[in-house]
Amino acid sequence: MSDKPNLDILLCAPRGFCAGVDRAIQIVDLALKKYGAPVYVRHEIVHNKYVVDGLRAKGAIFVEELDEIPEGTEAPVIFSAHGVAKSVPAEARHRNMFHLDATCPLVTKVHVEAQRHAEQGHDIILIGHKGHPEVIGTMGQLPPGSITLIETVEDAEAFEPRDPDNLALVTQTTLSVDDTSAIVLVLRSRFPSIAIPKKEDICYATTNRQEAVKVVAPQVDAMIVVGAPNSSNSMRLVEVGERAGCPISVLVQRADDIDWSLFANIGSLGITAGASAPEALVEEVIDAFAERFAVKVEIAVTAEENIAFNIPRILRELEAAGSR
Ligand code: SF4
Repeated sequence: MSDKPNLDILLCAPRGFCAGVDRAIQIVDLALKKYGAPVYVRHEIVHNKYVVDGLRAKGAIFVEELDEIPEGTEAPVIFSAHGVAKSVPAEARHRNMFHLDATCPLVTKVHVEAQRHAEQGHDIILIGHKGHPEVIGTMGQLPPGSITLIETVEDAEAFEPRDPDNLALVTQTTLSVDDTSAIVLVLRSRFPSIAIPKKEDICYATTNRQEAVKVVAPQVDAMIVVGAPNSSNSMRLVEVGERAGCPISVLVQRADDIDWSLFANIGSLGITAGASAPEALVEEVIDAFAERFAVKVEIAVTAEENIAFNIPRILRELEAAGSR
Protein backbone atom coordinates (compact mmCIF):
# COMPACT_ATOMS: atom_id res chain seq x y z
CA MET A 1 0.00 0.00 0.00
CA SER A 2 1.28 3.49 -0.90
CA ASP A 3 2.36 5.71 1.99
CA LYS A 4 1.57 8.76 -0.12
CA PRO A 5 -1.51 10.80 0.85
CA ASN A 6 -4.58 10.30 -1.35
CA LEU A 7 -5.52 12.98 -3.86
CA ASP A 8 -8.68 12.99 -5.98
CA ILE A 9 -8.10 14.96 -9.16
CA LEU A 10 -11.10 16.28 -11.08
CA LEU A 11 -10.02 17.10 -14.60
CA CYS A 12 -12.22 19.68 -16.33
CA ALA A 13 -13.51 18.83 -19.79
CA PRO A 14 -13.39 20.79 -21.97
CA ARG A 15 -9.99 22.30 -21.19
CA GLY A 16 -6.93 23.43 -23.15
CA PHE A 17 -6.60 24.02 -26.88
CA CYS A 18 -9.57 25.57 -28.69
CA ALA A 19 -10.19 25.36 -32.43
CA GLY A 20 -8.67 28.81 -33.06
CA VAL A 21 -5.41 27.98 -31.28
CA ASP A 22 -5.19 24.58 -32.95
CA ARG A 23 -5.64 26.23 -36.35
CA ALA A 24 -3.03 28.95 -35.67
CA ILE A 25 -0.39 26.40 -34.64
CA GLN A 26 -1.20 24.26 -37.70
CA ILE A 27 -0.74 27.30 -39.94
CA VAL A 28 2.79 27.91 -38.60
CA ASP A 29 3.67 24.21 -38.79
CA LEU A 30 2.37 23.83 -42.35
CA ALA A 31 4.05 27.07 -43.46
CA LEU A 32 7.37 25.75 -42.14
CA LYS A 33 6.84 22.54 -44.11
CA LYS A 34 5.77 24.28 -47.29
CA TYR A 35 8.19 27.22 -47.39
CA GLY A 36 10.99 26.02 -45.11
CA ALA A 37 12.55 27.96 -42.24
CA PRO A 38 12.42 30.69 -41.37
CA VAL A 39 8.83 31.85 -41.25
CA TYR A 40 8.15 35.05 -39.36
CA VAL A 41 5.31 35.25 -36.86
CA ARG A 42 4.05 38.63 -35.71
CA HIS A 43 3.45 38.42 -31.94
CA GLU A 44 3.28 35.13 -30.01
CA ILE A 45 1.13 32.94 -32.28
CA VAL A 46 -0.81 31.99 -29.15
CA HIS A 47 -0.09 33.01 -25.56
CA ASN A 48 1.95 30.01 -24.46
CA LYS A 49 5.73 29.89 -24.03
CA TYR A 50 5.91 26.10 -24.50
CA VAL A 51 4.12 26.36 -27.86
CA VAL A 52 6.16 29.38 -28.96
CA ASP A 53 9.47 27.73 -27.96
CA GLY A 54 8.48 24.55 -29.84
CA LEU A 55 7.75 26.49 -33.04
CA ARG A 56 10.90 28.58 -32.59
CA ALA A 57 12.94 25.36 -32.45
CA LYS A 58 11.42 24.36 -35.81
CA GLY A 59 12.43 27.67 -37.42
CA ALA A 60 9.73 30.24 -36.62
CA ILE A 61 11.03 33.72 -35.80
CA PHE A 62 8.75 35.76 -33.56
CA VAL A 63 8.65 39.56 -33.98
CA GLU A 64 6.46 42.22 -32.44
CA GLU A 65 6.36 44.50 -35.50
CA LEU A 66 6.86 44.02 -39.23
CA ASP A 67 9.78 46.46 -39.31
CA GLU A 68 11.86 43.83 -37.44
CA ILE A 69 11.65 41.61 -40.55
CA PRO A 70 14.49 42.12 -43.08
CA GLU A 71 13.58 44.09 -46.24
CA GLY A 72 13.08 41.94 -49.32
CA THR A 73 12.67 38.61 -47.48
CA GLU A 74 10.66 35.98 -49.32
CA ALA A 75 9.81 34.18 -46.08
CA PRO A 76 6.12 34.39 -45.15
CA VAL A 77 4.90 36.37 -42.17
CA ILE A 78 2.03 34.96 -40.13
CA PHE A 79 -0.36 37.07 -38.07
CA SER A 80 -1.30 35.59 -34.69
CA ALA A 81 -4.65 34.11 -33.58
CA HIS A 82 -5.49 37.36 -31.74
CA GLY A 83 -5.98 39.29 -34.99
CA VAL A 84 -4.34 42.49 -36.19
CA ALA A 85 -5.30 46.07 -36.96
CA LYS A 86 -6.01 46.82 -40.63
CA SER A 87 -2.76 48.77 -40.83
CA VAL A 88 -0.72 45.55 -40.38
CA PRO A 89 -1.73 43.67 -43.58
CA ALA A 90 -1.67 47.05 -45.37
CA GLU A 91 1.96 47.52 -44.32
CA ALA A 92 2.78 43.93 -45.35
CA ARG A 93 1.31 44.59 -48.80
CA HIS A 94 3.19 47.87 -49.03
CA ARG A 95 6.44 46.02 -48.31
CA ASN A 96 5.53 43.19 -50.73
CA MET A 97 5.58 40.65 -47.92
CA PHE A 98 3.78 37.36 -48.36
CA HIS A 99 1.50 37.07 -45.34
CA LEU A 100 -0.73 34.37 -43.90
CA ASP A 101 -3.47 35.25 -41.46
CA ALA A 102 -3.92 32.96 -38.43
CA THR A 103 -6.54 35.24 -36.86
CA CYS A 104 -9.20 33.05 -35.21
CA PRO A 105 -12.39 33.15 -37.31
CA LEU A 106 -14.31 34.08 -34.15
CA VAL A 107 -12.13 37.19 -33.76
CA THR A 108 -12.61 38.00 -37.45
CA LYS A 109 -16.37 37.77 -36.83
CA VAL A 110 -16.05 40.55 -34.22
CA HIS A 111 -14.01 42.66 -36.70
CA VAL A 112 -16.77 42.25 -39.29
CA GLU A 113 -19.46 43.18 -36.73
CA ALA A 114 -17.57 46.34 -35.77
CA GLN A 115 -17.26 47.35 -39.43
CA ARG A 116 -20.94 46.68 -40.06
CA HIS A 117 -21.93 48.84 -37.08
CA ALA A 118 -19.66 51.61 -38.35
CA GLU A 119 -21.29 51.42 -41.81
CA GLN A 120 -24.68 51.76 -40.13
CA GLY A 121 -23.44 54.92 -38.44
CA HIS A 122 -23.36 53.52 -34.87
CA ASP A 123 -20.88 54.70 -32.24
CA ILE A 124 -19.20 51.51 -31.11
CA ILE A 125 -18.34 50.33 -27.60
CA LEU A 126 -15.84 47.49 -27.17
CA ILE A 127 -15.76 45.66 -23.84
CA GLY A 128 -12.23 44.36 -23.36
CA HIS A 129 -8.83 44.73 -21.72
CA LYS A 130 -6.70 47.69 -22.74
CA GLY A 131 -3.45 46.67 -24.41
CA HIS A 132 -4.51 43.07 -25.17
CA PRO A 133 -3.52 42.24 -28.77
CA GLU A 134 -7.08 41.26 -29.65
CA VAL A 135 -8.37 44.64 -28.45
CA ILE A 136 -5.66 46.49 -30.39
CA GLY A 137 -6.62 44.47 -33.49
CA THR A 138 -10.36 45.07 -33.13
CA MET A 139 -9.99 48.81 -32.44
CA GLY A 140 -7.66 48.98 -35.43
CA GLN A 141 -10.39 47.84 -37.83
CA LEU A 142 -11.71 51.40 -37.86
CA PRO A 143 -10.15 54.86 -37.81
CA PRO A 144 -8.86 56.08 -34.41
CA GLY A 145 -11.66 57.35 -32.17
CA SER A 146 -14.37 55.18 -33.79
CA ILE A 147 -14.45 52.65 -30.93
CA THR A 148 -14.64 53.40 -27.18
CA LEU A 149 -13.07 50.81 -24.90
CA ILE A 150 -14.96 49.93 -21.71
CA GLU A 151 -13.16 47.70 -19.22
CA THR A 152 -15.28 47.82 -16.05
CA VAL A 153 -18.74 48.45 -14.64
CA GLU A 154 -17.39 51.84 -13.43
CA ASP A 155 -16.37 52.71 -17.01
CA ALA A 156 -19.88 51.78 -18.18
CA GLU A 157 -21.46 53.98 -15.50
CA ALA A 158 -19.25 56.95 -16.38
CA PHE A 159 -19.45 56.64 -20.18
CA GLU A 160 -20.95 59.72 -21.86
CA PRO A 161 -21.69 58.97 -25.52
CA ARG A 162 -22.13 61.58 -28.24
CA ASP A 163 -25.50 60.08 -29.14
CA PRO A 164 -27.04 57.73 -26.53
CA ASP A 165 -29.59 56.44 -29.06
CA ASN A 166 -27.04 55.32 -31.61
CA LEU A 167 -24.76 52.85 -29.88
CA ALA A 168 -23.58 49.34 -30.71
CA LEU A 169 -21.59 46.89 -28.65
CA VAL A 170 -18.91 44.30 -29.41
CA THR A 171 -16.68 42.42 -26.97
CA GLN A 172 -13.31 40.73 -26.71
CA THR A 173 -13.75 36.96 -27.15
CA THR A 174 -11.91 35.83 -24.00
CA LEU A 175 -13.60 37.81 -21.21
CA SER A 176 -15.22 36.66 -18.00
CA VAL A 177 -18.80 35.78 -18.91
CA ASP A 178 -20.07 37.10 -15.55
CA ASP A 179 -18.08 40.37 -15.54
CA THR A 180 -19.20 41.06 -19.10
CA SER A 181 -22.86 40.43 -18.24
CA ALA A 182 -22.59 42.96 -15.39
CA ILE A 183 -21.14 45.60 -17.75
CA VAL A 184 -23.77 44.85 -20.41
CA LEU A 185 -26.51 45.21 -17.77
CA VAL A 186 -25.32 48.73 -16.92
CA LEU A 187 -25.04 49.74 -20.57
CA ARG A 188 -28.44 48.30 -21.43
CA SER A 189 -30.13 50.09 -18.53
CA ARG A 190 -28.46 53.41 -19.39
CA PHE A 191 -28.86 53.08 -23.18
CA PRO A 192 -31.89 50.85 -23.86
CA SER A 193 -31.54 51.06 -27.66
CA ILE A 194 -27.91 49.89 -27.73
CA ALA A 195 -27.36 47.22 -30.40
CA ILE A 196 -26.00 44.10 -28.67
CA PRO A 197 -24.81 40.98 -30.50
CA LYS A 198 -27.58 38.33 -30.61
CA LYS A 199 -25.05 35.74 -29.70
CA GLU A 200 -22.27 36.76 -27.30
CA ASP A 201 -18.91 37.65 -28.81
CA ILE A 202 -17.32 35.73 -25.94
CA CYS A 203 -16.38 32.55 -27.76
CA TYR A 204 -17.61 29.01 -27.16
CA ALA A 205 -14.20 27.90 -25.83
CA THR A 206 -13.97 30.67 -23.23
CA THR A 207 -17.56 30.07 -22.13
CA ASN A 208 -17.22 26.28 -21.91
CA ARG A 209 -13.94 26.41 -19.94
CA GLN A 210 -15.44 28.89 -17.45
CA GLU A 211 -18.59 26.77 -17.06
CA ALA A 212 -16.46 23.68 -16.34
CA VAL A 213 -14.55 25.52 -13.60
CA LYS A 214 -17.82 26.72 -12.05
CA VAL A 215 -18.91 23.10 -11.72
CA VAL A 216 -15.58 21.68 -10.48
CA ALA A 217 -14.21 24.46 -8.23
CA PRO A 218 -16.86 24.17 -5.45
CA GLN A 219 -16.13 20.42 -5.16
CA VAL A 220 -12.36 20.62 -4.58
CA ASP A 221 -9.83 21.95 -2.04
CA ALA A 222 -7.69 23.61 -4.71
CA MET A 223 -7.86 24.51 -8.38
CA ILE A 224 -4.98 24.71 -10.86
CA VAL A 225 -5.26 26.48 -14.19
CA VAL A 226 -2.49 25.48 -16.59
CA GLY A 227 -1.80 28.51 -18.74
CA ALA A 228 0.16 31.70 -19.22
CA PRO A 229 -0.09 34.97 -17.26
CA ASN A 230 -0.58 36.94 -20.51
CA SER A 231 -3.40 34.62 -21.61
CA SER A 232 -6.68 36.42 -20.93
CA ASN A 233 -8.81 33.30 -20.92
CA SER A 234 -6.42 31.51 -18.51
CA MET A 235 -6.45 34.41 -16.03
CA ARG A 236 -10.25 34.53 -16.20
CA LEU A 237 -10.36 30.82 -15.28
CA VAL A 238 -8.32 31.55 -12.13
CA GLU A 239 -10.84 34.27 -11.17
CA VAL A 240 -13.80 31.99 -11.89
CA GLY A 241 -12.27 29.36 -9.59
CA GLU A 242 -11.85 31.91 -6.78
CA ARG A 243 -15.38 33.24 -7.17
CA ALA A 244 -16.84 29.75 -7.22
CA GLY A 245 -15.58 29.40 -3.67
CA CYS A 246 -12.39 27.40 -4.12
CA PRO A 247 -9.95 28.49 -1.37
CA ILE A 248 -6.86 28.01 -3.57
CA SER A 249 -7.12 28.91 -7.26
CA VAL A 250 -3.80 29.44 -9.00
CA LEU A 251 -2.20 29.69 -12.43
CA VAL A 252 0.67 27.34 -13.20
CA GLN A 253 2.68 27.57 -16.43
CA ARG A 254 4.13 24.10 -16.01
CA ALA A 255 5.04 21.58 -13.28
CA ASP A 256 8.22 23.42 -12.27
CA ASP A 257 6.12 26.43 -11.19
CA ILE A 258 4.02 24.56 -8.65
CA ASP A 259 4.30 26.07 -5.16
CA TRP A 260 4.00 22.82 -3.21
CA SER A 261 3.42 24.63 0.10
CA LEU A 262 -0.08 25.53 -1.18
CA PHE A 263 -1.01 21.90 -1.72
CA ALA A 264 0.41 20.28 1.42
CA ASN A 265 -2.97 19.55 3.03
CA ILE A 266 -5.38 19.04 0.18
CA GLY A 267 -7.44 15.93 -0.52
CA SER A 268 -8.93 17.01 -3.83
CA LEU A 269 -7.73 19.09 -6.76
CA GLY A 270 -9.43 20.50 -9.86
CA ILE A 271 -7.31 20.98 -12.98
CA THR A 272 -8.13 22.88 -16.14
CA ALA A 273 -6.10 24.59 -18.87
CA GLY A 274 -6.52 27.82 -20.79
CA ALA A 275 -7.32 27.70 -24.51
CA SER A 276 -3.66 28.17 -25.47
CA ALA A 277 -2.20 25.54 -23.11
CA PRO A 278 -1.25 22.17 -24.63
CA GLU A 279 -2.40 18.91 -23.05
CA ALA A 280 1.26 17.86 -22.57
CA LEU A 281 1.54 20.51 -19.83
CA VAL A 282 -1.61 19.22 -18.10
CA GLU A 283 -0.13 15.72 -18.12
CA GLU A 284 3.15 17.08 -16.75
CA VAL A 285 1.29 18.69 -13.83
CA ILE A 286 -0.68 15.49 -13.10
CA ASP A 287 2.57 13.48 -13.18
CA ALA A 288 4.16 15.92 -10.71
CA PHE A 289 1.24 15.42 -8.30
CA ALA A 290 1.45 11.64 -8.80
CA GLU A 291 5.02 11.72 -7.49
CA ARG A 292 3.82 13.13 -4.16
CA PHE A 293 0.28 11.80 -3.86
CA ALA A 294 -1.62 8.61 -4.60
CA VAL A 295 -3.77 10.22 -7.27
CA LYS A 296 -7.12 9.13 -8.63
CA VAL A 297 -8.12 11.05 -11.76
CA GLU A 298 -11.73 11.55 -12.75
CA ILE A 299 -12.90 13.60 -15.71
CA ALA A 300 -15.71 16.11 -15.17
CA VAL A 301 -17.39 16.56 -18.55
CA THR A 302 -19.59 19.67 -18.73
CA ALA A 303 -19.74 20.15 -22.52
CA GLU A 304 -18.76 18.42 -25.75
CA GLU A 305 -16.74 20.36 -28.32
CA ASN A 306 -16.40 19.35 -31.96
CA ILE A 307 -15.52 22.63 -33.63
CA ALA A 308 -12.69 22.86 -36.17
CA PHE A 309 -11.80 25.78 -38.43
CA ASN A 310 -10.48 25.57 -42.00
CA ILE A 311 -6.90 26.55 -42.58
CA PRO A 312 -6.00 28.92 -45.47
CA ARG A 313 -6.47 27.32 -48.90
CA ILE A 314 -2.80 27.74 -49.80
CA LEU A 315 -1.81 25.31 -47.02
CA ARG A 316 -4.67 22.82 -47.37
CA GLU A 317 -2.93 20.49 -49.82
CA LEU A 318 -0.28 19.74 -47.22
CA GLU A 319 -2.87 19.20 -44.53
CA ALA A 320 -4.75 16.74 -46.82
CA ALA A 321 -1.50 14.88 -47.51
CA GLY A 322 -1.22 14.30 -43.78
CA SER A 323 2.17 15.92 -43.63
CA ARG A 324 1.62 17.83 -40.41
FE1 SF4 B 1 -10.79 31.68 -31.10
FE2 SF4 B 1 -11.95 31.57 -28.69
FE3 SF4 B 1 -9.79 30.18 -29.16
FE4 SF4 B 1 -9.62 32.84 -28.98
S1 SF4 B 1 -10.18 31.43 -27.34
S2 SF4 B 1 -8.63 31.55 -30.50
S3 SF4 B 1 -11.60 33.40 -29.94
S4 SF4 B 1 -11.80 29.90 -30.19
